[in-house]
Amino acid sequence: MLTSIVGINWGDEGKGRMVDLLSQDYDIVSRYQGGNNAGHTVINELGKFILNLLPSGILREDVVNVMGPGMVIDLEHLSGEIKRLTDAGVKVTPENLKISNKAIVCMPYHRQQDILEEDRLGDAKYGSTRRGISPVYGDKYMKKCIRMGDLLSKETYTKELSRILEWKNLTITKVYGADEVSFDEMLSWLDKYAEEFKDFICDTGIYITNAVKNGKKVMFEAQLGALRDIDYGIYPYTSSSSTIAAYAPIGAGVPNLKLTNSIGIMKAYSTCVGEGPFTAEMFGEEAEKLREAGGEYGAATGRPRRVGPFDIPASRYGVTVQGCDELALTKLDVLSYLEEIPVCVAYDVEGTITTEFPYSTELEKAKPVVEYVKGWNCDISKCRKPEDLPKEAYDYIKYIEKAVNSKIKYVSVGASRDEYIVMY
Ligand code: GDP
Ligand code: MG
Repeated sequence: MLTSIVGINWGDEGKGRMVDLLSQDYDIVSRYQGGNNAGHTVINELGKFILNLLPSGILREDVVNVMGPGMVIDLEHLSGEIKRLTDAGVKVTPENLKISNKAIVCMPYHRQQDILEEDRLGDAKYGSTRRGISPVYGDKYMKKCIRMGDLLSKETYTKELSRILEWKNLTITKVYGADEVSFDEMLSWLDKYAEEFKDFICDTGIYITNAVKNGKKVMFEAQLGALRDIDYGIYPYTSSSSTIAAYAPIGAGVPNLKLTNSIGIMKAYSTCVGEGPFTAEMFGEEAEKLREAGGEYGAATGRPRRVGPFDIPASRYGVTVQGCDELALTKLDVLSYLEEIPVCVAYDVEGTITTEFPYSTELEKAKPVVEYVKGWNCDISKCRKPEDLPKEAYDYIKYIEKAVNSKIKYVSVGASRDEYIVMY
């Protein structure tokens, strides 16, 4: 059993909480792309955790967590994240955390370059998390990165660092006019984390393949959502990696294995962090109310998220590119304050009405076509079965299910582990 859990929208759909919930039936959870720009919130009996790099299965004692070759890993950040968990009594050891030898190390100079570039762009900035993700993925494809496996040999990473810094410093000093990155400082950074993480590094492809042969079940956890995928998202306002399900086996180290199914996590309304077209965006008081109701402030950055109604063209596109077998509709409880619920049903692109998700240049010109459906206007957070739901809430779920043409199997009505409904 190989299942991917992926985002349908712009990210922050509640993937972390769904992975935490559904991983009860799995043996392995693997993150397969991205870095510490992720912010996955998990709330359970141990407390509230925001995971940036660690797979969201880390809070289950019997789950082994894998960080795949598709990831970029800031080791300083990972060290801090592990410390926060171990301080809270969560076990993180080489037994329950495996890091791919092929994963890329996100260096302090990647972070620095991200900040230098966003500052250079000024008002035209991408809205990066400034954590080095785009520079490190760029360098990966330029083949100028240190990989986790290099950390097992001081001779290797010293040589690689010297080769790379000679090149990187040209950009840092001559393009951005900043001070040269110090070789000695970077080497001691690598020394420190090579020592700390050496026992976690392995070939995760061999590990997962053997586990699957022995009947183990694997879940692949995505970061961000379909609309932030580097190829299929709203380029260039995307992340720098592949967030889609089809990439999961590759990014986890097992391109030889095929997914059994894909579960899409989709929010009952829209939110977006960062810049770029966000057709259904609400403004003013209406937006403020939804943001407050949903607590829509970035888990990784604390930035207020842009908000809007559920967006049918965008979500249906997300479901399509993710190839979802079933969906989880999250945060339905947040809409309880509304008497009428707005839904973006189509886009108006210079007078042409379309329900297809358009190419970036048309998307820039798109205006939302909004319709209203009846709200339930009462607390649904205690509902645990479909029958418990008010008719209007049940109808909203069915309306969305039909609009995106995929089964909504789970509905979440609160942030804690047990606050959900199984629809089928
Ligand atoms: P992720 O990045 O997809 O894992 O999502 P985030 O953790 O960034 O954002 C989801 C937010 O919604 C977190 O603060 C969760 O605790 C919260 N959340 C998740 N599911 C629900 C839900 O059903 N209802 C409510 N009210 N909050 C939820
Ligand atoms: Mg998030």
